[in-house]
Amino acid sequence: MRNLIDKLYENNSLSRDELLYLLDNLTEDDQSYLHMKANDARQQHYSNKVYMRGLIEFTNYCKNDCTYCGIRSKNKNVQRYRLDKEQILQCCQVGYQLGYRTYVLQGGEDPYYTDDRMVDIIKTIKERYPECAVTISVGEKSRESYQRFYEAGADRYLLRHETNTRSLYESLHPRMDYDNRINCLNTLKDIGYQVGAGFMVGLPGQVNEDFVNDLMFLKELKPHMIGIGPFIPQKDTPLANEESGTLEMTCILLSIIRLLLPDVLLPATTALGSIDPKGREKGLKAGGNVVMPNLSPTDVRELYALYDGKICTGDEAAHCRKCIERRINSAGFEVDMARGDHVTYQ
Ligand code: SAH
Repeated sequence: MRNLIDKLYENNSLSRDELLYLLDNLTEDDQSYLHMKANDARQQHYSNKVYMRGLIEFTNYCKNDCTYCGIRSKNKNVQRYRLDKEQILQCCQVGYQLGYRTYVLQGGEDPYYTDDRMVDIIKTIKERYPECAVTISVGEKSRESYQRFYEAGADRYLLRHETNTRSLYESLHPRMDYDNRINCLNTLKDIGYQVGAGFMVGLPGQVNEDFVNDLMFLKELKPHMIGIGPFIPQKDTPLANEESGTLEMTCILLSIIRLLLPDVLLPATTALGSIDPKGREKGLKAGGNVVMPNLSPTDVRELYALYDGKICTGDEAAHCRKCIERRINSAGFEVDMARGDHVTYQ
C-alpha cells in the first residue's frame, strides 16, 4: 500500500484499478501516510498558505429539483429570498474591509437573474474592486451566457459535476442532463475561466467505483479548483432519511486529489465543517488549501439551507473572518488574503 501511495506521490497518477485497490484496502496507518504525503505535496506548491474566498449566497430560488438539495424547487417549506444588486455590493464592501479579494456569487438556478442582471452585477463589482477576483456559481448556462459573464469580468466559475457516474447522476437530477453538465465544464475551460468542478461524498448508493470515476474524470479535466464535501441530508428532501457522507472518506479523497493534481485549489468546505467541529481543519491537514467563509447577510444564511446543520449561520462576517483565522492557525497554517489565482493564471 505504501508503494502505491508513493507511486501516486511521484507520478501524480494511478490506474483505475490501482485507485480502486487503494480505496478498498486503506488501513488507518495508510491513511495517516496518505495525508502526510498530500500535505507534503500541498506544502511544495502553496507552502502553508490557505486562501480565503468570501461566499455570497445571493438567491435560494432554484428551478431544478436535485433530490439532495434543500433549495430544490419542489421544497415548499423553504422561505425564498433574493439579494438585490445593492445588497450584493454591500456584502462585497463588508468583505473588502475584512481583507477578502475574492467574491464567490453562488445561488440556485434562478431565472430572475437574467444575463443582463448578472452582467450588470459583475461589471459593477469589478469597477469598484478591480483588484478582486469574481467567481460565479449559478449552474448550467449556455455558452453565450458564460461568455457574457466572462467579458463582464468574471474570473472563475464553480460547477461541481456532482458525480461522474451517469446512472447515479441521473437518479439525483430529475430533468437534468449529465452530458450537458460535463459540456458546460468544457465550455467554461474553453472560454478561459479558472474552473472548479467537484463532487459529493457519501451519496446514497455511492460506492468506491463511483469515486474512481470522479477521480479519473478530474485527472483528465484538470480543473483549477475542486470542491468536494460530504453529502448531508436535508429534512425536506427525498433523501431526508439517508446517512451523511463521512469525514474520513472526504479526507481520504481530498488527499488523493491533492496527489493527482498537486497544484489544484482545494477547499476544506463548509459541509465538512458541518459534520465535524474540526472538519475544516482536518480537511486542510489532508491537503486542502482554501476556505470559503460566508459573507451573506446573517438574516438569509439560514435560508440557504442546502443541507441540515450548516455551521456559522448566526455569525457576522467579521466574526467568521476571525474564527476561521484562528482555526487555520491552530491547524498549523497561515491565512493568505490575496486573490489566490491558480498557478497557471498568476
Ligand atoms: N446552483 C449552483 C450551486 C449549487 S449549490 C450549481 O448548480 O452549481 C453548491 C453545491 O452544494 C452543489 O454543487 C452541491 O454539490 C452541494 N450540495 C447541495 N446539496 C447538498 C447536500 N444536501 N449535502 C452536501 N452538499 C450539497
